[in-house]
Amino acid sequence: MKYTYSLQTPSEDFCPITAQVQGAVAESGVTEGVCLVYCPHTTAGITINENADPDVVRDLLLAYDAAFPDRPAFRHIEGNSAAHAKASAIGSSVMIPIQHGRLALGTWQGVYFCEFDGPRTRTFWVTVLAGGEEMA
Ligand code: ZN
Repeated sequence: MKYTYSLQTPSEDFCPITAQVQGAVAESGVTEGVCLVYCPHTTAGITINENADPDVVRDLLLAYDAAFPDRPAFRHIEGNSAAHAKASAIGSSVMIPIQHGRLALGTWQGVYFCEFDGPRTRTFWVTVLAGGEEMA
């Protein structure tokens, strides 16, 4: 089952989407399987990281800025090559196991839509697949 979500993003941030992803899993009725969260954009991505201390996201944004600064040598006419580099580094998708009808995330893990070139209206897809029951 595939579910489509849209969100309004700020200029640059990690937007929490765990609730929407868990909602897709619940609506699908799948109790054991996997969940693919995919971002169909080239200057945004999907990641899993800490959802407890908001300073972690703030520090990650600083780290990505340091790793991928805007450079005068960039040639891409749109002028957002740093955002393309950040999106490519973070990746377009995550795959999460589903156990007992819930995302099998660690205690401190949350799913984030990572915006690097907003504000924009963005889309992400959640595909829920059944299977992978635990073997005795
Ligand atoms: Zn571009």
